[in-house]
Amino acid sequence: VTFADLGLAEPLLESTAALGYKYPTPIQAKSIPEALKGRDIIGLAETGSGKTAAFALPIIQALLEKPSGLFAVVLAPTRELAGQIAQNMEALGSICALRCATIVGGLDMVPQAIALSKKPHVIVATPGRLLDHLEKTRGFNLRSLKYLVMDEADRLLDLDFGPSIDRILKFVPRERNTYLFSATMSSKVESLQRASLKDPVRISV
Ligand code: AMP
Repeated sequence: VTFADLGLAEPLLESTAALGYKYPTPIQAKSIPEALKGRDIIGLAETGSGKTAAFALPIIQALLEKPSGLFAVVLAPTRELAGQIAQNMEALGSICALRCATIVGGLDMVPQAIALSKKPHVIVATPGRLLDHLEKTRGFNLRSLKYLVMDEADRLLDLDFGPSIDRILKFVPRERNTYLFSATMSSKVESLQRASLKDPVRISV
């Protein structure tokens, strides 16, 4: 299969080609068509499988079709992973000048609050710090959100981000799509999945 076979629009075919992606990886080939149909997704996949593009490409395609304020939040377990995701998403979204804000713990909140006030399309965040901004940063909310992604859900829960994620879920619209990726399934991941996804498609590679 090719990226065009998956239903991606021309600008995204250009951006994958520009990044040197010749063919979709298995997780991309299985999840992108379902995501473009509007389904929620549970993806069992490791880092290195190409899962970032698997969730980023459908989100960027939807943004191209119907831009509207803050569009997506991606929750990641570590600062390093959040940085990599934001970088990859900006590269894939360069065709529409996609703006990502990276909101992670251990850094000053003020520059982050300024970044949030500049209306990014996507926020890539560690859960604790995103929650801090939801509770403290004036004017910041997730009411226009269309997509929520939880990446490396098993690690998010191992790092005890579960309670923060539960609170973040109260700030996001019910009418949205949710993608959960995890290298492993556990009872904790299952219960997060039940609390946050609607009739998801399960994909494993
Ligand atoms: P990820 O699993 O999302 O962290 O991606 C791992 C690496 O594979 C990243 O450097 C991506 O840029 C790269 N990558 C993602 N999709 C493809 C693809 N279809 N073909 C070649 N490389 C890819």
